[in-house]
Amino acid sequence: MTTAKVIVITGASSGIGKAIAKARAAKGDKIVLGARREDRLQQIQKAIEQANGTATYAVTDVTELEQVKALAQQALDSYGRIDVWINNAGLMPHSLLIEAKVDDWNRMIDVNLRGTLYGIAAAQGIFHEQNEGHFINLGSVASLYSHAGGAVYSATKWAVKAISESLREEEAQAGKNVRVTTLYPGAVKSELVSHMTDPARREATDKFYDQFAIPAERIAKVVSDVLDMPADATLNEIVIRPSKQVQ
Ligand code: NDP
Repeated sequence: MTTAKVIVITGASSGIGKAIAKARAAKGDKIVLGARREDRLQQIQKAIEQANGTATYAVTDVTELEQVKALAQQALDSYGRIDVWINNAGLMPHSLLIEAKVDDWNRMIDVNLRGTLYGIAAAQGIFHEQNEGHFINLGSVASLYSHAGGAVYSATKWAVKAISESLREEEAQAGKNVRVTTLYPGAVKSELVSHMTDPARREATDKFYDQFAIPAERIAKVVSDVLDMPADATLNEIVIRPSKQVQ
């Protein structure tokens, strides 16, 4: 039997974050949901409570450090500790570099990269004080290879890989029992593609996803496996692709 954990999830209003929230709430964990769309967070909290689970939420834009800190504080105020912090919020508006969609570049840098750093900034001190904690960072197979149209998304996800590797090493040196896991998923059904700003690219990606993408629950299953690992060992890096996805 495992002890209930307090799990903070950024980007919990849809897709992978929502699936992790529901799966772990069903296992008895206490979930702290963070994202910008309050109506979605309310619906998910309600669904978890209707299934006899425990959840709270804080409207959070991960590009605002104070809001990310407030999400951590919400977890402490509600449940007294944080066992797991999942840096999951992200977006993927692909475009060619030559198109110079600078606003999209900046949004990816702000959410995927800066948001991950802000999550670390908000939770690390709490983990050290508790002498225990677990970061789970969402990279992507785009952390491992790049392609035409995916430069900035890949750059932000490579950055997540780099940050996670350094964080793991620093935490091991600190000896504070803080674990670090990075996930590198392939195509997963979610709202990620629907937020792409280039209609032609969105349509092409939609077609690719329709063919291959796996349900977000597969990633939730991996997270559960990661969390159920005894504390003396950590699954540090996991690549999970649809079995038929080539790259
Ligand atoms: P979704 O679009 O379904 O979910 C993205 C989540 O991020 C939403 O809950 C959204 O909530 C949140 N978000 C976006 N911007 C912000 C912000 N500024 N502040 C706080 N939250 C924000 O996509 P996925 O579930 O697929 O994506 C989750 C993570 O998984 C991302 O990091 C993505 O890069 C990664 N990933 C996804 C893959 C896939 O194929 N789906 C593959 C590999 C990695 P809201 O709009 O309410 O703020």
